[in-house]
Order: sequence, then structure tokens, then C-alpha cells
Amino acid sequence: MTGATDWPGSPGQTNRGDIAGIWRHYRGYHRSILAAAAAATIAVIAELGTLAIVVTLTSLIGNQQATWVMTFSGRTISVSTSQLLILAALLILVRALFRQLDTQISASLGCRYEDRKRSELTDSFLKASWPMQSQQRSSELQDVISGAVGIGRQGLKAMATAAGSLVSIVVMLFGALAMSWITTLIAIAVSFLLSICIQPMVRSSKKIAAQVQNASIEYAGSLGETVALAREIRLAGVESHFQTRLQAVSSRLERLRVREQVLGTGAPNIFETGTLLLVLAGLAGLYLMEMENTTRFIALLLLLLRSSQYGRNLQTVYHQMKTSGPYLQMIDRRDLALRSSAPVAGTQSIDRFESLEFRGVGYEYDSSNSALDDVSLTIAKGEVIGIIGPSGSGKSTLIELLLGLRVPTSGTIVVDGVELQDLRADDWSGITGLVSQESQLVEGDLADNVRFFRESVSESDIEAAVAASGLDRDLHSLPNGLGTRIGPRSSGLSGGQRQRLSIARVLAGHPQLLVLDEPTSSLDVHAEAVITDTLQRLKGSTTIVVVAHRLSTLRVCDKVLVLRDGHVDAFASRPELEQDNAYYSSAIDLAQLS
Ligand code: ADP
Repeated sequence: MTGATDWPGSPGQTNRGDIAGIWRHYRGYHRSILAAAAAATIAVIAELGTLAIVVTLTSLIGNQQATWVMTFSGRTISVSTSQLLILAALLILVRALFRQLDTQISASLGCRYEDRKRSELTDSFLKASWPMQSQQRSSELQDVISGAVGIGRQGLKAMATAAGSLVSIVVMLFGALAMSWITTLIAIAVSFLLSICIQPMVRSSKKIAAQVQNASIEYAGSLGETVALAREIRLAGVESHFQTRLQAVSSRLERLRVREQVLGTGAPNIFETGTLLLVLAGLAGLYLMEMENTTRFIALLLLLLRSSQYGRNLQTVYHQMKTSGPYLQMIDRRDLALRSSAPVAGTQSIDRFESLEFRGVGYEYDSSNSALDDVSLTIAKGEVIGIIGPSGSGKSTLIELLLGLRVPTSGTIVVDGVELQDLRADDWSGITGLVSQESQLVEGDLADNVRFFRESVSESDIEAAVAASGLDRDLHSLPNGLGTRIGPRSSGLSGGQRQRLSIARVLAGHPQLLVLDEPTSSLDVHAEAVITDTLQRLKGSTTIVVVAHRLSTLRVCDKVLVLRDGHVDAFASRPELEQDNAYYSSAIDLAQLS
């Protein structure tokens, strides 16, 4: 597992630590990058050898000689033209082989990175705390997981290529230095000056890359919002406003992308043009001074031209790496935020409980917003507890605390004498279940949706849960009963049916603590009666906490908790509340009317 990296500076800010940050981001891949560089080095050495042979052959042919003779450590070596030709052909094959190997290592490196990074990010998301998960906008997360990781893959390939190009340039320049150090040093000095001159361009590219990244997140966010609000947009007749807004972000994004691409090719282009002009100027000088040595002239020309090509490659990948920096930074920061939010795992096992106690529980979303304050109450096994209170009084916060989704910011929740945080999270989620107002469907048939990937849920559990939730009465109207295919985007179920399915899903897991956020709508009279019957049946064996909006539900409750501004206004039996709680009495009046 690669951890998140410390990046110097803030996102989008140019700083010296970029390449170091990028190198750290790719930890775990360094050996493969070096392997790609080694393959590229062998390829370039083979290329250098080929060039040397070509130059030698040119000289032999020019001088009408059939054998090349050289003295090495006092020994005379003679090689025929045909042997040189065979050697050159072999070197060309070696070069092709190792180039291919280099490309293959870089490509598989990129794919491995993308695959692993995606799985790390989804793992971080799935293990993150609920407060962190609930803050994530799906479009933003998608942008990081699909967009930024894709750029990271290209960056990694670029890094592998850069290592190869760097080695190639060094090897070629050594060859060139051996032939004419003056020309080569001038070439190096001017290339260096050129890369300094194009630095402002590289810096603006990086800034633009950060702007592109922000604009693409903004676009993804606006698009996600438009899809989510489609019905409201239609009803309010504000389609054109949303279209204009999306179009504006899209146009800005495209303009930035064009600038990003122009700058991306501009810098290496300037670099290459300058280097080529320099090569020509240097060679002109050499030509005037050493005209008689044509072999060296050709060899040097070839070497400097090839170095300039590798220089251009290096410039391109350097630019690519610089622009991928903000994206890699975004990946690391998101990963770190998700990962560090993961709740500390409790160790105590639990498979049943007798009592639940809130001891002075408080919860603050932020320092200026206390959603719950000093809530103390005890719930015994098998009791049915109703929660009522005006909107914003803390009902949802309380049930999220009860389910272990949030940890109290003050006080504790104690289950049979053990703090809820100290219990194993899997154990607690295994014996609790939530029926929320928004029931989400998954791709699959009705039975899959009730089972919800839990292997412990048997066919008979599904049938019993379907009957208990009243969903069995809907089956005859569905084409394939429990085998009817449904999914998040299919509109095969009515709101009430979705709600009953959600109840069946929870009941199939035989929860010991059932938490219901009772829908204010969606349930018809029959379904309402089914739920009330189910609650009656479960009463005594299952502990039920229900955010109640209906009189029929309140009637099943043993006790009712009245919340007001995050405080317990009352926690008592219905007859007691009827006598002395104003909010309860008015709620009853309202429920009777509705
Ligand atoms: P209820 O369910 O009774 O309507 P909630 O528990 O949703 O009440 O909200 C209690 C308080 O906490 C409200 O003031 C609400 O604005 C605030 N609140 C709820 N969720 C969040 C959140 N995710 N971030 C910040 N404040 C929140």
C-alpha cells in the first residue's frame, strides 16, 4: 500500500519540491522505472554502436577500403565490411528489442499504477468515517478516481520515459564529448540556457494545469447537481439557467485546455529549435576549423542531432510531469483525508445486548453548531422508542450516533457496560439495521436487493422478510416476482414499494436493534398497517427506535423521546407525555389530522 505523500506548498503553487513530490508519489514503482531506464540505456548503447559502425562504413566506402583496422592495447584488430554490416544489423535488432522492452515496462507500469491507485482510493473511501463519506460529492470523487488517476498513469509513463531519455542523452553526450569537447560543451551550455529561458512557460503550464483541474471538478460538480435536480429544474422551468451555467464552465475548461496543450508543445518545440540551430552553428565552426575530418564531422552531427531529439523528449516529459503534479497532489490529499478519517477499530465482540445507554451525549458538527447536547437516556432490550421533535432538533444525528456512524463529541453511548466505540464495528453493524427515508436500489433482481450481498441471508430469510414488510402483496404485479430485475436507474418500483423493499432488506438480517426513519410519505394505508403490525410483532424481541411521524407508529411505542434544539425535552411513556408535554400533544393533534 502506498501512503499519502507530503507535498510542499499548497495545490497549484509552483515549488521546487514538485519533482521530489512526484517521485515520492510513485513510491512502489521506483524499481520498475529504473528497469525501464536500464532497457532504454541498453537500447541507446546499441544505437550508439550502430551509429559508430555507420560512420566507419561511410568512411571505408569513401576511401574504397574493404577492412577496418584498429589498434587496441597493442593488438591490431581488423574487421571486414561484411562483418561490420552484420554487427550493425545485430545492434539494430538489439536496439529494437530493448526499446520494445522499455515501452512494455512503461505501459504495464502505468496500468498497474492506475489499477492499484483506484483500488486504494475506493478502499480509503469505503473505510473512511461516515462524516467524511457523507461530505464527499460523488462527482468529485469520480473526477479524482477516473480523471486524476488517469493523469497519474501518464505521469508515471512519462517518468519511466524521462529516465530512459536522460540516460540516452548522457551516453550520447559522452560520445560527443570524446569527439569534440568544445562543440559539445557549447551545445550543453546553450541547451541549459534554453531550458532556463522556457522555465516561465513551464511554470505557467503548471498553473494552468491546476486551473484545468479545478474547472474540471467544478464542471463535474455542476453536472452532478444538474442530474440530481432534474425534476426540480423541470418544475421550476430553469433549464436554461442550468444549461448556461454548465456551458460557461465547459467553455472555460476548454479554453484552459487549449492553453495547456499549446504551452505543452510550445516549450519542447522552442527547446528543440534552439538546439538544432546551435548544432548547426557549432558544426559550421567545426567545419571551418576541421574540414579535413569528414568521418568525425558526420559522427558528431548524428550524435548531436540524436541528443537534441532525446532532449526534446525529456523536455516534453518534464513538462508532462510538472503539469501532472497538481493532480497527483489532489490524489494524495484526498487519499490522506479519507484514510485518516477511518474510525479506530473497537475490539470487543458483541452478538446480543440487553441495554443501551446514552450518558450526557453531545454532538457538534462544528464548533458553532451543537446538534445534540447532554442527552441521557436508557433503552432496554425489546422496547420500542419513538423519537419526535421539530425539524433540526437532532433526530437524524441521534440515530446516526446510535448506529455508530458518528462518535459523540461529548459523553458516551454504552452497550451492556461497554462503550460503543470499543465494540467491533462489524459486530455492531451485524446486529443493527436502518430503514432510512431514501431507499437505494442496486442493480440485480428483487431477491438480490433484499439479500444485499450478505452471505448469511438465506432464501427463507428473504421470503420471511418480504412477507413481514408487506412486499409479498406487490409481487403478483411484478413480471417475475422476486426474480424481477430492478436497479438504481430502473423505474420499476413505486415509492411505497421501494420503501417496503428497504424494510425487507433490513429485516432479512434479523437486527436486534432496528432503527427506522419513518417516511413522511410513500406508504399507503395498507403498507402503513403492515409496518405497524411488523413493529408490534417484533416488539419485545427486537429493540426498535423509530423517528415517528404517524399516530399509528407512535401507538406502538413504549416510550417517546421528545427532542427540542438538541436537548431532551421529555422521555416518557405516551400517557405521561399526553398529560404534560406540549410538543407531544400538538404532534398527536397534527398526526390525527394528517
Ligand atoms: P432532524 O433530523 O431533527 O431534522 P438533524 O439531526 O438533521 O435534525 O440536525 C440537527 C442540527 O444539526 C441542525 O441544526 C442541522 O442544521 C445540523 N446538521 C445536520 N447535519 C449536518 C451536517 N452534515 N453538517 C452540519 N450541520 C448539520
